[in-house]
Amino acid sequence: MLWPRLARSLLRRPLTDAPVPPLPETVAALTERLEAASRSRLGRSLAIRAVNAGSCNGCELELGALQGVVYDLERFGLRFVESPRHADVLLATGPAVRNMSEALLRAHACMPEPGWVVAVGDCALDGGLFRDGYAVAGGIGAVLPVDLVIPGCPPSPSLILEGLLALVEAEA
Ligand code: SF4
Repeated sequence: MLWPRLARSLLRRPLTDAPVPPLPETVAALTERLEAASRSRLGRSLAIRAVNAGSCNGCELELGALQGVVYDLERFGLRFVESPRHADVLLATGPAVRNMSEALLRAHACMPEPGWVVAVGDCALDGGLFRDGYAVAGGIGAVLPVDLVIPGCPPSPSLILEGLLALVEAEA
């Protein structure tokens, strides 16, 4: 019967664990450093073009959280853009699957200087779980010169923010 099952699913608690909230002080400290560093190097903005090169979408969920109300990167001038022509950073997730290699190369070729490449997640490092797949060329480094790898499966938004900060500070 459908109705008892429907009633049970409406009344019982969700099966997923509650998310661990990030420490507000950690977020504030990271964004403050990032804001200061990006202002001197990039004029108070950091435009990021995200490319899913073959990810399972786990890393994309964390990138989505980075743009949500908790981290809210846009208030600091950090934003995700739709075109690589407007981007300072090409942020690639997932292994580089063969069908996406050309798209990655073209996206990078469109970018203005400095054209940094950030590989996010264990898959972007070396192919991760998918490294032996016939469709996988390897990590993002197999296609593009990578400036920074942010490991994790998936890395947390704080870790991604920390990585972007390290990149901007190193280049400032
Ligand atoms: S690193 Fe983990 S979450 Fe990210 S694409 Fe690979 S398997 Fe998915």
